[in-house]
Amino acid sequence: MQAIVEPVQLSSLLDRFAEPETLKMAKLGRELRAKGVDVIDLSLGEPDFDTPQHIKEAAKKAIDDNWSHYPPVAGYADLREAICQKFKRDNNLDYKPENIVVSTGAKQSLANAILALVETGDEVIIPAPFWVTYSELVKIAGAVPVIVPTAMEKKFKITAQQLEENITDHTKLFLFSSPCNPSGSVYSKDELAALAKVFEKHPDIFIISDEIYEYINFVGAHESIAQFDSIKDRVIIVNGLSKGFAMTGYRLGYIAASAPLAKACEKIQGQFTSGANSITQRAAITALTTDLRPTWEMKEEFARRRQRILELLKEIPGTHGAVPDGAFYIFPVVKELFGKTDGDAVINDADDLCMYLLNKAHVSTVTGRAFGSPECIRISFANSMQKIEEAMRRIKEALERLK
Ligand code: PMP
Repeated sequence: MQAIVEPVQLSSLLDRFAEPETLKMAKLGRELRAKGVDVIDLSLGEPDFDTPQHIKEAAKKAIDDNWSHYPPVAGYADLREAICQKFKRDNNLDYKPENIVVSTGAKQSLANAILALVETGDEVIIPAPFWVTYSELVKIAGAVPVIVPTAMEKKFKITAQQLEENITDHTKLFLFSSPCNPSGSVYSKDELAALAKVFEKHPDIFIISDEIYEYINFVGAHESIAQFDSIKDRVIIVNGLSKGFAMTGYRLGYIAASAPLAKACEKIQGQFTSGANSITQRAAITALTTDLRPTWEMKEEFARRRQRILELLKEIPGTHGAVPDGAFYIFPVVKELFGKTDGDAVINDADDLCMYLLNKAHVSTVTGRAFGSPECIRISFANSMQKIEEAMRRIKEALERLK
């Protein structure tokens, strides 16, 4: 006899937010692959490279040297010192170890900072497209995401005017990434200066600047909004090792913020995780203090793939893409394809298009809806050149069948 399973009474918190669409697409791709279908995954946001050898050696040594005890909640002192040196070396920013909190990935850094800052009902301005997790973390914290759509013609960047127009008495936080996942946009120093001028007029608003794609920038030097002294105390820089060092599985992120804010993040983290993995932290010191050559080599390879995927995109009907200046995604507008059919599946929106590409072309991508831009899809080029070329060939063929 089969046992009767009572429905579990779960917390209403679970109804407040969605699971990451990026992970959902990867899961659907895996399920199809398990059935023997040759699926090419262009949905995930992680480098396809292995962690550089010297960083792996540092992790192995940390195990042998018995770095096996609870680390300090905010991170080892020498790692926090190394992060301060990294900020000086790469960004000409001055921070002290008391400004740094090391976490289990940039995702946790974001969660700490959002929970530390917002109250129920506060508004958080997020330019769209945005990374899927931003809006959901804001909702978990009980605050209200205020999504501000940006235009492809403006390279998907929020203007100072748009920012100003969306500020209300309830605005507590502005949250953005540069380079941006999913659009690849990179804010210039002038663009950041214009935003900083708006924040100068609103001294109660904080800014989370997610700079995790810092090293994957195809247009020049990385610029941080924390460089403007008038607002620096209200900026929380979020960064981490996942993208620039191909260390997604190691799970290491960090913030730089004013000392009281860093303390608040540490307090939250003290109850959630007790801090980041000790072995990862030791490996992170090596990653941040040694030669960045492997990082630049990965960037060069991403640059080659970007050029190729943009060439191939031009041949694909119904897609219009902005050239990404950073990160490893293209984010074409695909609305011309809405309403079309191959005689079997009907494409009503970007979700349908992604399912069509998965089921008919066996390529996984992510719907722009998840990023707040329902007219787009995200295609990752963190895969080999050969796979990218094959995936784009399949996408072209599948989209040519749509009438
Ligand atoms: N921010 C952005 C913009 C990201 O794309 C990601 C990873 N996809 C993260 C943060 C989270 O990175 P981590 O692996 O360090 O948690």
